[in-house]
Amino acid sequence: MRRRLILKMIPAGVLAGLPTFAGAARAAGLVPAFRGTPRIAVGGIASECSTYSRIRARMEDLTVLRGQDVFKAPLSLPLQRYEAPFLPTLTASAPSGGPVERQTYETLKADYLERLKKLLPLDGVYLMMHGALSVEGMDDAEGDWYEATRAVVGPDCLISAYYDLHGNLSRRAVDTLDAMTAYRTAPHVDRVENVMRATDMLTHCLRYGLRPGIVWASIPALLPGEQSSTEWEPGRRLWADLSEYNRLPGILDVSQLVGYVWADEPRAAASVVTTGTNIEEQTRIVTELAARYWDARHDFHFDSPTGTIEECLSRAMVSATHPVVISDSGDNPGGGGNSDQTFFLQALLKAGTKDVLLGGMTDRPATDACYRAGVGATLPLSIGATLDPLMCRPVHVKKAVVKHLTPVTRPEDGEAVIEFAGITATLSARRRLYHSAESFRDMGVDPAQFKIVVLKCGYLHPTMKVLANPALMALSPGAINQDILHIGNHRRQPTWPWVADLNWTPEPYISARFRRG
Ligand SMILES: [Zn+2]
Repeated sequence: MRRRLILKMIPAGVLAGLPTFAGAARAAGLVPAFRGTPRIAVGGIASECSTYSRIRARMEDLTVLRGQDVFKAPLSLPLQRYEAPFLPTLTASAPSGGPVERQTYETLKADYLERLKKLLPLDGVYLMMHGALSVEGMDDAEGDWYEATRAVVGPDCLISAYYDLHGNLSRRAVDTLDAMTAYRTAPHVDRVENVMRATDMLTHCLRYGLRPGIVWASIPALLPGEQSSTEWEPGRRLWADLSEYNRLPGILDVSQLVGYVWADEPRAAASVVTTGTNIEEQTRIVTELAARYWDARHDFHFDSPTGTIEECLSRAMVSATHPVVISDSGDNPGGGGNSDQTFFLQALLKAGTKDVLLGGMTDRPATDACYRAGVGATLPLSIGATLDPLMCRPVHVKKAVVKHLTPVTRPEDGEAVIEFAGITATLSARRRLYHSAESFRDMGVDPAQFKIVVLKCGYLHPTMKVLANPALMALSPGAINQDILHIGNHRRQPTWPWVADLNWTPEPYISARFRRG
């Protein structure tokens, strides 16, 4: 079994006809098989940051796990299945949102590097990333993290990272890593498999003495996030056969990234990236898949009818079927939106729409006021625009009735249900997702009972999708405006669709570490 695994990694053409095993092994990316137990560190920093957001992620907004606490994260559980123990450093993650404050990033990086140094010597590093981290004053935070890691662990250590499907890659990142993989589904239901692909590659290469490398093609095409689902075409077919490529000799992983469009920075792009020990085969695959993706770029589309807020609302008000579920897609915290914008609420009040559920408004002062008043109380409230007062204006409600308060031990976890002017709205003290039907039922609200449901989300959660009758997507303003042609495009390379007639053919790039042999 082991022998077969080793042979799978060696390109047949390399072994045939070469004079010495040492020469063949070097050419195939083989180094002496590992003796003893490899020392593998685990760490990373992950977030998806819209450069169009004025919100900044500070230390208190990140979940930081240090030392053994790293293993408390649900996605660390698969690490327990390996013989060799992973050695923890630090992992940091922030919900999708605005860029991370520079000082916060520098403090976390210094802490991580200090912990990494104490673990030396290391044979491998496994990094839990996202790929769309933005840090104030930096263009390529992941590249910075990898270079700092490499400077500590030295040239012989293997570094493997996993990415979200919506990550952006840079030459700097590719030149520093030895292996990487990314989600193959959107919505991301293969998180555990993704962890295992990244760690399997690393442990496999260490065990069998393989030195893998990356071949990458950056594709100058970006999509609105809500078009990039793998649940419908063309996403479904473009991602469906990636695992088939993994079966080829010398191929460890083939990944395809949509990129993150709300990062107005030079590296923002889609990607095809392969890890393996066979430069020729990897180059062929990358060229083929990048061309296929480029050719399909016009076919991506939204899952439901779209329009402005007013257009969607007009359509919902005359709908014969209910509930009409409308996504307030530009303000979806799941993709980096603020979740405190009032554009939709203003439109509802202006139109006098009743029997509406408005889900997902973040407002700490209003939530705190509801807790002070108690269930059943009536109070005046200012709603929204607390996180970004420049984006829109708050809505002042004279009489809001508190219908529900979730019991919590920390004020920052507070959430309330209020009613005013025929509208039932949820308020939360911090930015969080209210996408599933259960998240409302937990607060005593049944979305199925309303004529219109407005959610700060993009494509619908499966439990909402079955209720929606019909579903509409409002291309609303915000930090993740899905109408990407109008979001501002100042620092990217020439990219479709901003350059509508862009001519492009794939140019595979072989990482510097792979080229050095
Ligand atoms: Zn994603």
